[in-house]
Amino acid sequence: MTVLPIVQVGDPVLRQRARDVTDAESQTPAFQRFVDDLIETMRAAGGAGLAANQVGDLRRVAVIEVRANHPRYPYKPQIPLTVLINPVLEPAGAETVAINEGCLSVPDLRGEAERFVDVRVRYRDRDGIAHDELRRGLTAGTFQHEVDHLDGVLFLDRVRDPRTFATWEQFDRHHREAFVARAQALVQRVGS
Ligand code: ZN
Repeated sequence: MTVLPIVQVGDPVLRQRARDVTDAESQTPAFQRFVDDLIETMRAAGGAGLAANQVGDLRRVAVIEVRANHPRYPYKPQIPLTVLINPVLEPAGAETVAINEGCLSVPDLRGEAERFVDVRVRYRDRDGIAHDELRRGLTAGTFQHEVDHLDGVLFLDRVRDPRTFATWEQFDRHHREAFVARAQALVQRVGS
């Protein structure tokens, strides 16, 4: 496995839509190696997810994993390692919530992105098995962030109030406490 370089905001590859992967292609050793590299890169960087665009590749695949006491997002509920191939995401309700997000491709910046509380996500996993799932709360936000990447969209585009932008240090100093309280209330209400 290889830790790949992560491209940064301004690279046009982050603004392109990733192309669907065929079932046959998804089962090739080269593709499976690429999935392993995405997982390795996400873990090495301490991310909660990573999309192919972020390593300069336009195959429609992203990975998500949140372990306990995540280094960047300790308040996020755990998500087991999930490989999303050709994901299709749609809102499953009208309610939205502002979630404070960061991104491995946007160094040292966080902001309040507007996210749907409930989403339906359909995808294939790396074994070719089809999934059709409802995701809620902070976890739904993580899925929206990663599928957005595959559509060429960054969390920056979802920030309704630019005054919420902050460096990680300033977030910790001035905004973390209030946001974590809001996040915990959301998790308590919707269960994730
Ligand atoms: Zn990101």
